[in-house]
Amino acid sequence: MNDEKSEKENCLFCKIAAGEMNTEMLYSGDQAVAFNDVNPQADVHVLVVPKKHYRDMNEAPKEIAAECFSVVKKMALEKDIEKTGYRVVINCGSDGGQEVGHLHFHLLGGRKMQWPPG
Ligand code: 5GP
Ligand code: ZN
Repeated sequence: MNDEKSEKENCLFCKIAAGEMNTEMLYSGDQAVAFNDVNPQADVHVLVVPKKHYRDMNEAPKEIAAECFSVVKKMALEKDIEKTGYRVVINCGSDGGQEVGHLHFHLLGGRKMQWPPG
């Protein structure tokens, strides 16, 4: 329980979502926020993050995933990449390459993506 509490207290994306890091928000709703990735991997690289702390996709209720997908689509429209195309990435756990332990959806676009991903 204490570990769980400190995981949230020390969580970067909890702090960003709570507006504690002065991060410029592209979107802020009841359940999720969106902001630019600090280290963009494409012309458009937006992170969509639930306000509530879920470590990863395994922990997230489907309603939260659905809400985040809806925000991803909204951001794709706003960034004008909905027709040219985009990629949505959810890294989960160690093999998935997840570095920040708070569920987030990467929206990448504005360039041609490669397949398979590294
Ligand atoms: P992951 O590897 O966990 O799927 O992705 C974490 C993402 O968060 C990375 O793309 C990284 O650049 C981004 N990131 C890490 N720290 C910060 C930060 O303080 N602000 C923002 N805007 N993005 C961050
Ligand atoms: Zn968190």
